[in-house]
Amino acid sequence: MKSVAVLGGGPAGSFAAERLARAGLNTVILDEKLAWEKPCGGGVTYKAYHEYPFLRDNDTPKKLVTDTFLWDQKAGAARLGLTRPLLIYSRLDLNQMLLDRAERAGAQVEQTRVQGLDRTDRGWTVRTRHGSFDTDYCVIATGARNTLRNVGTEWTAADTMCALGYYVPSSQDHIDIQFLPNLEGYIWVFPRCGHLSVGICGKGEPAQKLRVRLETYMQQKGLSYKGAAFYSHVLPSLDRARWKHNRVAGDGWMAVGDAGGLVDPITGEGLYYAMRSGDLASQVVLDEAHCPAAKAEAYCTLLHRDFAADLEFGAGLAKRLFLGRFLFSTVPARMIQFIRKSPLFCDLMQDLFAGTQPYLGLKTRLLKNVNGTIPETVMNFFLHKLVTQPDSSQAEA
Ligand SMILES: Cc1cc2nc3c(=O)[nH]c(=O)nc-3n(C[C@H](O)[C@H](O)[C@H](O)COP(=O)(O)OP(=O)(O)OC[C@H]3O[C@@H](n4cnc5c(N)ncnc54)[C@H](O)[C@@H]3O)c2cc1C
Repeated sequence: MKSVAVLGGGPAGSFAAERLARAGLNTVILDEKLAWEKPCGGGVTYKAYHEYPFLRDNDTPKKLVTDTFLWDQKAGAARLGLTRPLLIYSRLDLNQMLLDRAERAGAQVEQTRVQGLDRTDRGWTVRTRHGSFDTDYCVIATGARNTLRNVGTEWTAADTMCALGYYVPSSQDHIDIQFLPNLEGYIWVFPRCGHLSVGICGKGEPAQKLRVRLETYMQQKGLSYKGAAFYSHVLPSLDRARWKHNRVAGDGWMAVGDAGGLVDPITGEGLYYAMRSGDLASQVVLDEAHCPAAKAEAYCTLLHRDFAADLEFGAGLAKRLFLGRFLFSTVPARMIQFIRKSPLFCDLMQDLFAGTQPYLGLKTRLLKNVNGTIPETVMNFFLHKLVTQPDSSQAEA
């Protein structure tokens, strides 16, 4: 294989292209916008910058946040110090940094819209707004609004959530996370350099209703949305069943990042998985042990082992976590009470925020915490109920 076209130059595409170009493949990135302020919180977890330290060690502007407040209407607030800070970027800056790295590694970067793909004997003909060209292999990195219907995840309404918000010209040092009644999702206030990103994501609720919830919250908190820039986008949130049949690769192509639905179905974290999948895809493309026909399967296996099995398990937890009940209260309210009372639960939440606690490992962690104070014992019982329910459609714990 000599040439690869990377369709989409967001974090997934840029990072895959950087790896491919550095290894000597003739690599081109095609993006209709290049670097842009993609609707996003811009939060980069410890897991991401631990794996890819350049995300922390660079001159690109970013906020380093060590304090989070979690809120529930009934339980009030709990402070959660982040032992491993969250980095918060503007997406324009982050995307530009990643595109620059790809270009420096030797990738060619072109601003154009990809209109379609045709399979040929040798590879693909890529049709763009500015003409067509041939390539051996395609990496699909066109995000959650991928319009190339024959490649990438096949969405149904149940596999996405709506995410929208405002960039508010204000400042604060901490993150706020607000849980809301009967919403499989949450509101966030993320401090960025020069402004706040205030947004809401929710599954199964129309955008207009989410916007009303967010604006009501902002009014209550004294955050003005009048004149603030509005943003909205789709966030992949695959149901557990979809993970089993997710179309992430096929003959001559692999999908990375949002185009493959590779987002945490609970937190909405996608930046790490975009870059990680770009990394894994490039490893498989470059690995000559796999003939071109075997690459799709090799990529699926690698993804599953690396993080997709964990996200699939997380998809089964999401409803219970946001909508479930425990001892006559909601699960989010109980979580806030446990953060206040149980040091072990605090540790667990800090690890979940850092991205170092896999969902699949929750049960094992519980078993280690069998002895403790009364709050710890109740917390263990609570987590046991949360993690071990067999059916994700059951909201009641
Ligand atoms: C409101 C919101 C908040 C979020 N907050 C966070 C957060 O705080 N932390 C986190 O980790 N994740 C967050 N996410 C998820 C994160 O934004 C995505 O997972 C991430 O951007 C995925 O990267 P990507 O490269 O796969 O796709 P994208 O970033 O969407 O990039 C796709 C690129 O493809 C280009 N493109 C698309 N179609 C074509 C075409 N036909 N031709 C040419 N170019 C094309 C686009 O211009 C775009 O640049 C959030 C998402 C939303 C919607």
